Amino acid sequence: MKWIADAMLGDLARYLVILGEDAAYWRDCSNQALIDKALIENRIVITRNRNLEHTDVCVVVCFKQETSVWDKLEYLKNNFSLVFSPEKLFTRCLLCNVAVTPFLPGQRPYDIPERIFNTFQLYNCPVCGKIFWRGGHVLRTEAMLKSHGLL
Ligand SMILES: [Zn+2]
Repeated sequence: MKWIADAMLGDLARYLVILGEDAAYWRDCSNQALIDKALIENRIVITRNRNLEHTDVCVVVCFKQETSVWDKLEYLKNNFSLVFSPEKLFTRCLLCNVAVTPFLPGQRPYDIPERIFNTFQLYNCPVCGKIFWRGGHVLRTEAMLKSHGLL
């Protein structure tokens, strides 16, 4: 399942990507451009824009402004049978929304501390080249998502 969040739902798009979902974030303000992108890439639109609520050319999920990001995630999880799991956390690049790939052992990149290089499996984004590892932020995010009943 693929998503596209409009400019008002950047926080939701970010958490979906953290949870391993393919969620594009659409900053363009044009409704038609958003719908066109959703159709071309077969994405479900998530929006707060009431004008898109009754669009019938693609699936649109319209949230009320006051709905928290946790409740939005729970709604998507329950209504689209999403499976969130700790193993899927941070498996996509937060900048590029593409799956990260294992960084093959070899020379330590100059900007990665030796302790990190020797302790963690490194991953990198095939688009932007950024390097990631499953450090403390993964455990903290996992605990926070569990506290909201999402994992
Ligand atoms: Zn990237």
